Amino acid sequence: MSRLRNSFNDAAEEVIALEKEIHEMHEKIRLLELRKEELQHKCNHQFQGNDYYEKCLLCHKIEVLYY
Ligand SMILES: [Zn+2]
Repeated sequence: MSRLRNSFNDAAEEVIALEKEIHEMHEKIRLLELRKEELQHKCNHQFQGNDYYEKCLLCHKIEVLYY
């Protein structure tokens, strides 16, 4: 097998490994977002803000008042 072929395979294997890691991180982020939403859903919000948006002091949920 040529040197070029070997380096191509190495790169392809690394890309596959990176894609797997990226996918796993996306999945982890998705679970963290779901957990955050769950906590925000249960929160007894205390909003503070201005004319444009309010942010809950406890759970950081943001309510946009004007678009
Ligand atoms: Zn809240």
